[in-house]
Amino acid sequence: MTTPRVTLPEYLQAEQQRFPQATGDFTDLLNHVGLACRRIAHIVDQGALAGAHGSAQATNVQGETQQKLDVMSNEIFLDTCQQGGHVAGMLSEELDDPYDLPAGVARGKYLLAFDPLDGSSNIDINAPVGSIFSVLRAPKGTAPASFHDYLQPGSAQVAAGYAIYGASTMLMLTVGNGVQGFTLDRTADAFVLTHPDMKVPADTGEFAINASNQRFWEPPVSRYVSECLEGRTGPREKDFNMRWIASLVAEVHRILIRGGLFMYPKDTKDLAKPGRLRLLYEANPMGMIVEQAGGKVSTGREGMLHVVPQSLHQRVPLILGARNEVERLERYHAEHDQGLDVAFESPLFNERSLFIRN
Ligand code: MN
Ligand code: MN
Repeated sequence: MTTPRVTLPEYLQAEQQRFPQATGDFTDLLNHVGLACRRIAHIVDQGALAGAHGSAQATNVQGETQQKLDVMSNEIFLDTCQQGGHVAGMLSEELDDPYDLPAGVARGKYLLAFDPLDGSSNIDINAPVGSIFSVLRAPKGTAPASFHDYLQPGSAQVAAGYAIYGASTMLMLTVGNGVQGFTLDRTADAFVLTHPDMKVPADTGEFAINASNQRFWEPPVSRYVSECLEGRTGPREKDFNMRWIASLVAEVHRILIRGGLFMYPKDTKDLAKPGRLRLLYEANPMGMIVEQAGGKVSTGREGMLHVVPQSLHQRVPLILGARNEVERLERYHAEHDQGLDVAFESPLFNERSLFIRN
């Protein structure tokens, strides 16, 4: 006898039973998010056949070149989730301002923030891309949402998750009760629960960082990485592996499946940008997912989910994954800020070394 298949709607229905007052709106909203992800999966899967590769010959609010799939994915998210009738407004990486629902469209009491296609520079090389989403309560209920309504800390999220369009398409979701992983069954066009109750181990021997930015890192990050690189004979007394996929979704997915640490820390490359990743639709939803799986997420100086957003497209330093490694990095930042790390010297930072200290 095989275990019965549980689809995304069935999982959500079972979760809803835990809340007798639930109206079903939240469940239905998440089903529409799942539908948007299935629609995007189809286009990503078609690739060049759908005419979806290449640049859209435009830039978004971040000043990044938009790929055609960025634009198509954004429209799919907006259209699909608007049709569900459960949002009071939406915020997208691809739009300067929040999206206001047209007159006559049913409004709901939730706000949806999303990165419709994360890692879009990976599209043309057929490497994993994904969609990231965050669900907040609309402070004014079904009234049209204003700019300020979105500026809620990550701890206020009621659901978060991402889809990864890889060798198979998966949807990873938390509604505040652990993290569940669903795999898209393409023949049934349904997400099926395949990875229940995912956990991120507290320790790891694997870290991910863009080492080409090494000369811009702050001393606590240089210290951490150099200690990892020193391996078995260094202070950590073990060897580490390094990974870098340049797609947040793919990095977080690897960490959920087999553990690890991801860093896009604060650096001095562009002082106008205190980090690379966006708080409201990248760091916060990934933060909720990782913490619901027992991992930890931090800016290096404070817990990510406590950061109060100041602007819609705010960037933040992001460190997430194995709890003990994130806590170690927080300690290194605190020691640096208190001037306690002056004794730190590494052979990897002398003049002849590959890694030159700032
Ligand atoms: Mn992104
Ligand atoms: Mn994107």
